[in-house]
Amino acid sequence: MDFGIYIHFPYCRSKCRYCDFFSMTSPIPHEAYAEALIRELEARRPALTGRKAVSLYIGGGTPTLWRPEAAEKVLKALARSVPAEEAAEQTIEANPGTVDLGSLRAFCSAGLNRISIGAQSFRDDVLRAIGRAHSRNDIVRAAELAREAGFGNLSLDLIYGLPGQTAKDALSDAEEALSLRPEHLSVYELMVENLEFRTPLARDVQAGKVRLPDEEETFLAGEALLDLLEASGMERYEISSFARAGRRSRHNQLYWTGGEYLGLGIGASGFLLNDPEHPEKGGRRWRNHRHPRRYFADVAAGRLPEEISEPLDARTLFEERVQLGLRQAGGLSLAQAGTALGIADRVIDSIWQRAEPLIQQGWMCREGGTLRLTRKGLNFHTDLILRLLGE
Ligand code: SF4
Repeated sequence: MDFGIYIHFPYCRSKCRYCDFFSMTSPIPHEAYAEALIRELEARRPALTGRKAVSLYIGGGTPTLWRPEAAEKVLKALARSVPAEEAAEQTIEANPGTVDLGSLRAFCSAGLNRISIGAQSFRDDVLRAIGRAHSRNDIVRAAELAREAGFGNLSLDLIYGLPGQTAKDALSDAEEALSLRPEHLSVYELMVENLEFRTPLARDVQAGKVRLPDEEETFLAGEALLDLLEASGMERYEISSFARAGRRSRHNQLYWTGGEYLGLGIGASGFLLNDPEHPEKGGRRWRNHRHPRRYFADVAAGRLPEEISEPLDARTLFEERVQLGLRQAGGLSLAQAGTALGIADRVIDSIWQRAEPLIQQGWMCREGGTLRLTRKGLNFHTDLILRLLGE
C-alpha cells in the first residue's frame, strides 16, 4: 500500500471569499510551528515503522509564507524518521504574490521538487470578485520564478463557474495556463451550494448580491475546457486533474486509490490501515485540532494532537474506495478492491447488478473486472455513486 506524508500549513495573508478550507490569517509562528511539527512527528513514530514514503505534500493555507529555513528543519526531521523513495514527489503549494526567487530556491534546495500554484483565474476582475490577493501578472511571475528556482514539475489550479466569468473567459484562463507549460493542471468547478452557504461568497450568492454563471453556462464551460485540455495533450486522469505523460500527482493518487497518509500539523487529517496505535482491524482516520492553542499544548505534552479519531470497518473502506476510485478516468477494479479489503463476493455482485442499467445508459462502462465512468458519467459522479452503492 502506498504511503505519503501531508503537512498542513494553515496560515494565509487574507481569506478568499469562497474559501472553505481550514486556514487562518493570524501571525505566523514560523519556528514554533516547525518545532511543534517535529514533536508531533516524534509522537507518531510508532505508526511510521516499516513505511516508505512515495510522496510528501506541504499544503495549506499558503505554505510559501513559511520561512524556508523553518520548513527545512521539518523536512530534515522527516528524512531522519521516514525513508522516502528515491524519486519521491515532494510538493509545496504556493500562492502567487507570496513567492520570490530566494525563497523558492531555498524550498528547492530543501528537497521540494514540485510546486502547485493556486492561479484560479487569469482575469483580474474575477480574482477581485473572489477575494484573491493576487493578479494575473503575479501568476505569470510566480510560474517564471518557480522555473528559474529549479522546479521541474509545475502544477496550476484553476476554477470555473466564478462570478462574472463566461465560458469564453474560462477557456481563455485555460489557454493562459497552458501557455505557462505546466506539467499538471487541476480544474475545479465552484459549487457554493456544497458549502452550505458558509463562505462570504456563498452568502452573497444566496442573498442575490452576486450572480454566478447559470448551470448551462457552467456545463458548457466545463465541456469546452475538457476539449481544450485534451487537445493540448494533457491527459485527464481524474475528474478535475490533467497531466502530461508521467506527471500525474502521486500524492493525490494516494487519496483516490486507498493509499495511506500521515497528516501532520494544525487541522491536518491522516489515514492509516492497521494503525499500531489502534489495534482494532480496519483503518483509522483522524483530524488534528484546528485550534492552535490545543494543538501546541498537546504536542508540547507529547500527546497526539487529535480532535477526531474515526475507526473505519472494511465495508466503509470499500465504499470509500468505490467513491474515490471512480473519480479516476481509468476506473476501479471492483474485484481487486474487494479482495484487498476482504469484502464478500455478493457485495461486489450487487454493485455490478446496479451498474448494469447505468452501463446501458452510457454513464459507465465495464472493462473486464474494472468499472469506470464515461466522460458523461464523470459529470455526475456523486449521483452515480449513490445509485451504485444503493443509497
Ligand atoms: S489562499 Fe487558499 S487556503 Fe488561503 S484563504 Fe485563499 S483559498 Fe483559502
